[in-house]
Amino acid sequence: MNPAAVDPSYGILIGGEHRCATASFEVEDPATWEVVAHVTDGGAADALAAVDAAAEAAGSWRSCAPRDRAAVLHHAYALMRDRAESLADLIALENGKSRADALAEVSYAGDFLRWYAEEAVRSSGSYGPSPGGGTRTIVTQLPIGVAALVTPWNFPAAMVTRKVAPALAAGCTAVLKPAAETPLTALAIAELLADAGLPAGVVNVVPTTDPGAVVGQWLGDRRVRKISFTGSTAVGKVLLRQAAERVVASSMELGGNAPFVVTEDADVDAAVRGALVAKFRNGGQACTAANGFFVHAAIAERFTEQFCAAAARLRIGPAATGADLGPVISARAVDRLDELVEDALARGARLRYRADLSADRGWFVPPTVLTHVDRTATLYREEIFGPVAPIVTWEDEAALLEELNQDDLGLAAYVYSGDLQRAVRFAEALEVGMVGINRGVVSDPSAPFGGVKESGLGREGARAGIEAFQESRYLSVDWP
Ligand code: NAD
Repeated sequence: MNPAAVDPSYGILIGGEHRCATASFEVEDPATWEVVAHVTDGGAADALAAVDAAAEAAGSWRSCAPRDRAAVLHHAYALMRDRAESLADLIALENGKSRADALAEVSYAGDFLRWYAEEAVRSSGSYGPSPGGGTRTIVTQLPIGVAALVTPWNFPAAMVTRKVAPALAAGCTAVLKPAAETPLTALAIAELLADAGLPAGVVNVVPTTDPGAVVGQWLGDRRVRKISFTGSTAVGKVLLRQAAERVVASSMELGGNAPFVVTEDADVDAAVRGALVAKFRNGGQACTAANGFFVHAAIAERFTEQFCAAAARLRIGPAATGADLGPVISARAVDRLDELVEDALARGARLRYRADLSADRGWFVPPTVLTHVDRTATLYREEIFGPVAPIVTWEDEAALLEELNQDDLGLAAYVYSGDLQRAVRFAEALEVGMVGINRGVVSDPSAPFGGVKESGLGREGARAGIEAFQESRYLSVDWP
């Protein structure tokens, strides 16, 4: 469970064994810049060996009784609850998020194991006479085959279980490539699955600093029949092009640019509470994080004042200090956020609030609130992915909707309104996959998570999540 600080064989996990590699890479604590582990660096040969192991394990795992697959997932869920504290420590260590956010993530991650343990035994299919008679039609759902899973650093546990749990429930074996920033949590989950009774080779993990080589190897291998990716839209497009070569089934959970809309009749106190969660949970590094706040002009000043006051109460620092807000992931993320703020200010935005930071180490970014943001500012159009909050005012509902729907992304949105029907009208008109109504979070393992337009293809969670790892087979039976 604890990261092996210097063990050069810690990392690549194939067929239940950690594999030595000639190279390793460092994992850094973004809150302190300390190196917390050296992890073996996988390459194309490891990627191939991982598919060999997954293909070898495929036959017995797919023919396992659904109840037996469910039992492993139930056991893994119980172990995740038992290990919640140490897993949260690990997440906070390599990702930097607050302890409260890390514990919330473990709970969310565990819920995918539980949900898919429950779904594993509910086989779907059908049987019946064909309309014209003469045949019987049997439709059954089969595991799609070896699945390649690629996950980001912002939710190092939940993005792994959101893919691994439905894949296992469906009867697929898998090869997993976690983000290089956060491989330790993925490895701890693989260990937990083994402890829960998952046979060796069913899930194989290849951490790497060369994702193109590893994932490219997988997409070129005829035994890999599925790619499930969570990450940026730019990388998603690259993988879709590669997947097209062999027509590999693709699920893509990509970037977001969630608008947070507040109407003039909203409960402002509740909207501010929701806004804090939507913007500062995970330091703003969530695909569903609110990007811009679109507040009706009649209440904008009150909302802004309360929001800034609440932001000023956030304690910023390493998770170990009990802070509410941790660092962002990297120096690059700090530079990007600085540039976004500078660009907005240069285009006329006003700095309404910026926290004072005293940290001399760690990739900390002060919570920042901007008003009078011009539509041409880069942060107006692009995913901010950090604790920077632009507030924009509006008066005309139709014009606002039209403007928001110009976006090429469409993952999540939030609407706060005192009139539920109006909120639902808004939600139905917005071109997005998920809408939080009078709530600042939308994620729930029992609900279909995903976006429209360039935010992705397919859904994770709910029944849809398991169907993404299945294909239907229909049998036409002669029935004279
Ligand atoms: P990223 O696209 O840079 O990386 C995601 C994963 O892809 C990592 O494992 C990375 O190593 C891998 N990768 C990078 N280049 C690759 C390549 N050429 N070939 C194969 N794999 C490659 O994204 P990130 O910075 O890690 O994560 C942040 C992004 O993820 C944001 O855009 C965020 O919105 C998105 N995200 C989306 C969801 C969702 O469910 N829609 C959830 C979390 C994060």
